[in-house]
Amino acid sequence: MSLPSNEQFSTTEHLDKLLQAIEANPVIIVVTDPAGSIQYVNHKFCEISGFILEEILGQNAKVLGELTAEEERQMWDKLRAGMEWQGTFRNRRKEGGSYLEEATIFPIKNPGGFITHFVKVAEDVTFRRKTEETVRFLAFYDPLTELPNRRLFSDRLGQSLARNQRSGEVLAVLSLDIDNFKSVNNSYGHRVGDQTLKVLSERIASRIRTSDTAAHFSGDGFNILLPKINRAENAAKVAQELLDAMAMPIPVGEQQLFLTASIGIALFPLDGEDIPTLMKNADLALHRAKFLGRNSYQMFTSTMNEQAVQRMALETDLRMGLENDAFELHFQPQYEGPGRALVACEALVRWQHPTRGLISPGEFIPMAEETGMIVRLGRWVLLQACHQTREFQRAGLTDLRVAVNLSARQFLQQDLPGMVAQALADSGLDPACLEIEITEGAIIEDFPRAHATLSELRAMGVSIAIDDFGTGYSALSYLQKFPVDVLKIDRSFICDLKSGNSSVAIARAIVTMAHELKLKVLAEGVDSAEQLEILSGLGCDLLQGFYLSRPLAAEDFLAYGQGRMAGS
Ligand code: C2E
Ligand code: MG
Ligand code: MG
Repeated sequence: MSLPSNEQFSTTEHLDKLLQAIEANPVIIVVTDPAGSIQYVNHKFCEISGFILEEILGQNAKVLGELTAEEERQMWDKLRAGMEWQGTFRNRRKEGGSYLEEATIFPIKNPGGFITHFVKVAEDVTFRRKTEETVRFLAFYDPLTELPNRRLFSDRLGQSLARNQRSGEVLAVLSLDIDNFKSVNNSYGHRVGDQTLKVLSERIASRIRTSDTAAHFSGDGFNILLPKINRAENAAKVAQELLDAMAMPIPVGEQQLFLTASIGIALFPLDGEDIPTLMKNADLALHRAKFLGRNSYQMFTSTMNEQAVQRMALETDLRMGLENDAFELHFQPQYEGPGRALVACEALVRWQHPTRGLISPGEFIPMAEETGMIVRLGRWVLLQACHQTREFQRAGLTDLRVAVNLSARQFLQQDLPGMVAQALADSGLDPACLEIEITEGAIIEDFPRAHATLSELRAMGVSIAIDDFGTGYSALSYLQKFPVDVLKIDRSFICDLKSGNSSVAIARAIVTMAHELKLKVLAEGVDSAEQLEILSGLGCDLLQGFYLSRPLAAEDFLAYGQGRMAGS
């Protein structure tokens, strides 16, 4: 059979009108004979598929792209019955790759009622489908990690709860948070931060079963649903595996990043039977894990609810305390040199609670930090410490210096140097008599910012001590670059000191290194004669601890100081 050319086509009466409409339309048009052999294609077809007319005429339409056997059968059934068929083809492009077309095929009949041709009118929907897919994806997945988002997680949790309510099976919800993740963003930038989150999410996804769901809502938090666990211990086992996976080093350029995570676990039905309760309780357990020192998991317990209620009450009290001047400062002496001269003191805040009596800072400082109240409290402490020290000086403790603790959040607050300058100006205290104590944690949160703040303080004449040294960050290089004056060896090493043990080695190493860097070393928490002797032997410059003196209320400190002056 010889093929009709395009010219022959346009002479047939049926197709003449059709062709005009066709050419004006920006859609794909393909005409075949009843057996599917291609008789005509329009320009749009050539443009999208990349084929030219001559290549495609006479070929079976199947060469463009195939349907499944079932789809094909249905199509032919309809077409042969003289009806219209609608469907989607994935067609190949000449140069490789493919495109999706939504097609309508209908038969053309001659006056005798016989089918002479099939006409396909189609639209390239590749882009539209892709957009739709993206929109669908974004509705249920987090674009960065490609893990399910809150909505999908809640959906799956809801379904699992319904199923387990019937079967009685135990289910676990895990709330996982990367410890100190902010410092990654701050030190390496957001690109590295994002990359790190991706690596971590891949690790999480690879450590759980396909029936489990790991989700990423936002920030540095992940949630994991274990829809079927036989026993609570299994959830704990998964949690530990996840912690181990998080702790593996992450390569960043030439360096390695070491991160840890904290996890809270809540179980159905024990800890909650609905989505909000389980999620909230997993978060409370997470909070507890963080509080207890991070890099660990905690199972939810009902006491955590009570603790949460208590915390809220304490928060209210703390607010009231700030209004009502319920805080006071105690001063713990610091001694220097072989003669143990009283040269300085550390200001330590105390809270006189209306019903619970004196509360130690370990209990309320973390909460004051979380709620932001630390800024107000810190300003009061700084001002009070400067005023009081100035008074001590006037009363005879002439060159007494004072060390004031700043928590990480305080240290990174807006215009800390301005606040310090104000306190110095108000009190008339010589900047050389003020020392600011910060922990390594405050520095690593934001290196550039910390550097700028410390430099400004130093320029004012204020000195800087690193508190709890040895417990925090392991990279010591910052000590060379940052303006630091004193290292305070952490209490945990001091209280362990016994001649010959490893804490002695650590203390010695810190003293040697500090002196190498022209820094002074202070040992805090000295509470026995033996420790005192060892530390003096190591050449520790300054000493502080219960064995020498406990923190004292202002009047007591003054009396004590005057007594020592008189005695010395
Ligand atoms: P820190 O700065 O390391 O303060 C030393 C803590 O060790 C004080 O506890 C002090 O009473 C205690 N200590 C001193 N010598 C000994 C000893 O020989 N044995 C033992 N077992 N302990 C000793 P305190 O006053 O309860 O303060 C705890 C922490 O609270 C401080 O640790 C500091 O991080 C924070 N803090 C205290 N006052 C303030 C403040 O005004 N602002 C801020 N941001 N934090 C503060
Ligand atoms: Mg301190
Ligand atoms: Mg300390």
